[in-house]
Amino acid sequence: MKSLFKGLIDLLFPPRCLSCNELLISEDDSDFCPDCKNRISFYFPPFCPICGFTLPPDTGDNTLCLRCVAATPPFEACRSMGRYESVLLEAIHDLKYRGRIATGVALGNLLASYIGQYLPVQDYDLVIPVPLHKKRLRERGFNQSLIIAKSIARNFSLTIDFQSLRRLTYTEPQINLGRKERESNVRNAFAVVREKAVADSRILLVDDVYTTGSTVKECARTLLKSGAKSVAVATLARA
Ligand SMILES: [Zn+2]
Ligand SMILES: [Zn+2]
Repeated sequence: MKSLFKGLIDLLFPPRCLSCNELLISEDDSDFCPDCKNRISFYFPPFCPICGFTLPPDTGDNTLCLRCVAATPPFEACRSMGRYESVLLEAIHDLKYRGRIATGVALGNLLASYIGQYLPVQDYDLVIPVPLHKKRLRERGFNQSLIIAKSIARNFSLTIDFQSLRRLTYTEPQINLGRKERESNVRNAFAVVREKAVADSRILLVDDVYTTGSTVKECARTLLKSGAKSVAVATLARA
């Protein structure tokens, strides 16, 4: 139910699309206008059941992608909402590099409704964002993955934990690195500082962008080593 207060705020400051700034006239509660939403390339099944990679349309159920056949990832499942391009890429940059927290909250809500279709979200015990090193956190002022993770936790009434998993090493942005370099760059970069909190838990790990998966895989390995029962991953985009 729309509260009177919210109605008044909407009247004074009509809601606008977070991407193109057009006035939002539809009542579907989305923070992006229909045009911008249509320009997000959402991923649809069939997926590789483990990493979520989109497979050709005629692929049967429970067929793994070649990469997961060659090396099974440490996480049980990973789903990314859409391709890292266009409106989605711009919105992620608005959050990360321009500090638009409201856009991050909206993206988190969008991701929550997306993964609700493909992951058993109610079954998870904890939502954990991929942590930033404290030096990076000081530079940026906030952890974008925490903003997204908070939206997911709120949507599903799950507990959020942004303190048990820590990033120990400060790494340069991985943008120009290949798969092998990315993997060695994040090896042993994370640690669990409160094993009790994660022990025996089913964890939903949240990140903004999945590129080679080296970061979320290393986080998953670290959590499992500390006694987590399982780790699933949700990201906004996949490069
Ligand atoms: Zn728009
Ligand atoms: Zn796969």
